[in-house]
Amino acid sequence: MPDDWQRALAVVAHPDDLEYGCAAAIAAWTDAGREVSYVLATRGEAGIDTLDPARCGPLREREQRASAAVVGVSEVAFLDHADGVIEYGPALRRDIAAAIRRHRPELVITLNHRDTWGGTAWNTPDHVAVGRATLDAAGDAGNRWIFPELTEQGLQPWDGVRWVPWDGVRWVAVAGSASPTHAVDATPGLERAVRSLLEHRTYIEALTDEDPETYARTLLTGFAEETGKRFGNRPAVAFEVFPR
Ligand SMILES: [Zn+2]
Repeated sequence: MPDDWQRALAVVAHPDDLEYGCAAAIAAWTDAGREVSYVLATRGEAGIDTLDPARCGPLREREQRASAAVVGVSEVAFLDHADGVIEYGPALRRDIAAAIRRHRPELVITLNHRDTWGGTAWNTPDHVAVGRATLDAAGDAGNRWIFPELTEQGLQPWDGVRWVPWDGVRWVAVAGSASPTHAVDATPGLERAVRSLLEHRTYIEALTDEDPETYARTLLTGFAEETGKRFGNRPAVAFEVFPR
């Protein structure tokens, strides 16, 4: 995994998208003194069957902020798109491009943008929309003429000028891809990744009757070990990295 960078921005659809695997890598990065910020397209307000969206949204926002703090992330922003029906299009690309210009990351992280998780395990439309829009917005963020209103708001283009090695988005790393190209050792961050997922307690309690801590630890350890089989048999968090 590229490690000559200082700032990363993770852009995903829902609270918990980063906690199902990715957070172990994020914990290791923030330990190493790197800055990581989160942007979520929604508050996950349609995620709990027994809870009305008006109550669910604020609750899941709180859980997400707590969950980010566990892995050293203090900035969490929400874009206010509608959970379950996020539309891929210029509005979403513009909101993500604005976040990229604001944070000026070298590394952008997102979640699987493809139709499936591999095989026939169907992905959700929100992940597909946000993943694709994030890959596209990494380019939009660098072009002053695509969303000129952003420049008018003082958000200058963040583009990859090749002779300034630290300028612009250099990679978009897609977590949860069925064809990963790179990996991070999950071992140092795994315990905090478990605690980070556990902060989504209301969601987990609605999802399973299992003890939440057993659920989180079994699941994340299993993911990391399974992923590690492709990367030298060490527990891993894998990404498909798109260089720019
Ligand atoms: Zn999700």
